Amino acid sequence: LPTIHRALLWLTTMEELTPMMRQYHQIKLEHPDTILFFRLGDFYEMFYEDAVTGSRELEITLTSRNTDKKGKPIPMCGLPYHAANGYLVKLLRKGFKVAICEQVEDPRKAKGIVKREVTRILTPGTAIEEGVLDSKENNYIASLVNEENSSAASFLDVSTGEFWVAEYSGEDACEKIEHELFQFQPKEIVFPESESEDLEKRFPNWFENSPLSIKTPQADWTFNLDFSRRILLQQFKVSTLEGFGVNGYSNALAAAGGLLNYVKQTQKTELDHITGLNLVEQSRFLRMDEATVRNLELVQGVDGNRKWTLLSTVDYSRTGMGARLLRRWILRPSLDLVEIDQRLDAVEELIGSVVKMNRLGKILDAMYDVERLLSRVTMETANPRDLLSLRESIRLLPDLAGELEEYKSPLLRLGTDLLSDVLELLDSSINDDPPVVLTDGRIIRKGFNADLDKLREISTSGKSYIAQLEAKERKATGIHSMKVKYNRVFGYFIEVTKTHLDSVPEHYMRKQTLAGSERYITPELKEYEEKVLGAEESIVELEKELFIGVRSTVAREAQRIQRIARLVACLDVLLTFAEVAQRHHYVRPRLTRSLNLKIVRGRHPVLELQSDEPFIPNDLECDAASHQMMILTGPNMGGKSTYLRQNALIVVLAQAGSFVPADEAEIGLVDRIYTRVGASDNLARGQSTFMVEMVETARILNTATPASLVLLDEVGRGTATFDGLSIAWSVAEYLLKEDSKKARTLFATHYQELTKLEEIYDGVQNYCVTVRESGKKIIFFHRVMPGVANKSYGIEVARLAGVPYPVIERAREILKRLERKQLNLTGSKRSSTVPDGSFEDVQKGLF
Ligand code: ATP
Repeated sequence: LPTIHRALLWLTTMEELTPMMRQYHQIKLEHPDTILFFRLGDFYEMFYEDAVTGSRELEITLTSRNTDKKGKPIPMCGLPYHAANGYLVKLLRKGFKVAICEQVEDPRKAKGIVKREVTRILTPGTAIEEGVLDSKENNYIASLVNEENSSAASFLDVSTGEFWVAEYSGEDACEKIEHELFQFQPKEIVFPESESEDLEKRFPNWFENSPLSIKTPQADWTFNLDFSRRILLQQFKVSTLEGFGVNGYSNALAAAGGLLNYVKQTQKTELDHITGLNLVEQSRFLRMDEATVRNLELVQGVDGNRKWTLLSTVDYSRTGMGARLLRRWILRPSLDLVEIDQRLDAVEELIGSVVKMNRLGKILDAMYDVERLLSRVTMETANPRDLLSLRESIRLLPDLAGELEEYKSPLLRLGTDLLSDVLELLDSSINDDPPVVLTDGRIIRKGFNADLDKLREISTSGKSYIAQLEAKERKATGIHSMKVKYNRVFGYFIEVTKTHLDSVPEHYMRKQTLAGSERYITPELKEYEEKVLGAEESIVELEKELFIGVRSTVAREAQRIQRIARLVACLDVLLTFAEVAQRHHYVRPRLTRSLNLKIVRGRHPVLELQSDEPFIPNDLECDAASHQMMILTGPNMGGKSTYLRQNALIVVLAQAGSFVPADEAEIGLVDRIYTRVGASDNLARGQSTFMVEMVETARILNTATPASLVLLDEVGRGTATFDGLSIAWSVAEYLLKEDSKKARTLFATHYQELTKLEEIYDGVQNYCVTVRESGKKIIFFHRVMPGVANKSYGIEVARLAGVPYPVIERAREILKRLERKQLNLTGSKRSSTVPDGSFEDVQKGLF
């Protein structure tokens, strides 16, 4: 409904409401797109449509309440506040936003209706709750801002403080931003509300019914450049943004400011762990588009499974921070030779001593996810146990630094600031076994605060006095079974069983009668009870206050803690690489600025572990001259796809800074990897299988460079044979002839005709995977050798797959006829010669 209309409706209905429901409506009106958790005593209640949604999504009972004056029932449902976290996580995972509305004054002291306020809005993109986050993945929220000829985005992981911006102009600006969206996988996208339609057009994959992320339009002014600049300067506590290398990227800054503003508005807390901005420079990374990342199964299998992926194969990381960084390095391998060599040097040094590697590993095993702990500290949701985890992680730093001392690599250093002051503070303040909640006491260590110690003394001495009182009263009254007890409702009391009631002295005041006993208090007991309980109440208050004080002191050191967390993450990944190399016999690749790719006895990193059969290693030689394009033929199931992929994976690993599964490898830096593999359609986007294939082919031809690596695993299979062959041929020619496109290309195909290219172009080499025929069976050797395969053995593979025998026999018969240029498939009396356009005819036509 338009806002005015809604407001009018609201005004008329407000009249009929009870004061509390009026308060509810006032708050709900400000948060229309959220589910409002309205605190009522020990419960969070949802009303109206929120209650209907909440009860459905959370599977809790929908009730109703006669809250309006006419007695019209209002739908409602509620959940106990102490169990709210589990429910919140469920809603966030389902893509809902939840506004938490708390009672912000003590109900006992409130005059009239208790004051309530929304203290935090939880959204899928800003969540820091453990159950929502995957420890091995970042949780980004994005913002988008567009101008006529430029697109900008920013990405923020509130749970770690990582903050990125990207801005591109020119024709492919949207494509580049789309690539970033794919890389960052934001759970929520914020944008200026007036750009909604434009964004739908520019990014249909993300805006049209995309289940990938929720969309949050915000007022346009929040993306105003001046406003954005101001909010960023304030956040980073600097006077210029120059140091972040983002000057001149005004759209990116507007996007970042708008995003930060949204996060601040929803979190309503300090965000000290967000300390700076990074500019995404695509030119610094090896680029892989969505199809390539999917086809190479880098982080997820084609079937969505995460078990047999490159990431899962090399992931020996020990911390959440390390796991997230490893994922980033795999998805964004570097293009910076110096950076890659630095990583490889570090891995090589680490491999030098297995004993030391084990020791480092043990220390990292004990380390918690400092990055995420820190975000909870600065956002004031960290509990005492979180601070304990942080403390124990910081305690490990001197040992870690000690272990690293002998290494030369600059990446294997923690620097001199090992946060000893933070450790000291946490050591002196937090108990060794603190509770999770702030109201349970026992958080603060003895000796940290004199007032607290005094209160505790009063409480303990009061308690021991009360304990002595029991003995004293027993003696005085002669009732040996009497007990001094405590419960929350009555406090301290003396319990006497019915059989001894006659001996109860007169000054005992009866408090409660039970079936078998009576409960009493005495003035003396009352006096000590007040002392003890008063002290205990003050203790809880003071402990809470002191804890919050410690937490905010730690929060002020966010930048220093974050620095260490990131160094530890890097160390964790390098150790991971060292461990993989050592376990699976990887070697150090040699990275060069040439266009050579030379791999000796390379292996597929995932397949070699997956199968019980021994993996057959293969070589690769590729360069910008005589070996620019490899045409790979061979039977189905021969190992062509495996070979193509293994070479790409070796490049990804090498440029991520890892050793590689080969005996030797020279990798001339690759700027992009493209794969055109297999058949898949995208019906949701209205694209048929062949259309998808051609879209991918077009992207390769339009954007590849001589430094790229192109894997073509069949081109043109999804259409008529001659169309397909013609397209495949001309694609290959384009990549060979166009100077700006001459990418290193591995082209696997069943079109034997393409092997003729070797005779025509200097840059082409024919290779094939070898097999041997044994009777009607074929034996696959999976060995890649120079030459041309003479057959595809498709029918043999069909037989292996269980295609019925008569079909196989008939296929063999048809094949023979085709090969003899006869085609009378129906067995009728029609002409038995192959019509114009047999394979040979096509060849003749082409050459
Ligand atoms: P198609 O032409 O039908 O797509 P292909 O030639 O691409 O077949 P792949 O899919 O690469 O064949 O390989 C088929 C199977 O052969 C793999 O799943 C794997 O089990 C095995 N294989 C491939 N290469 C090797 C190798 N080098 N060593 C051991 N086994 C291999």
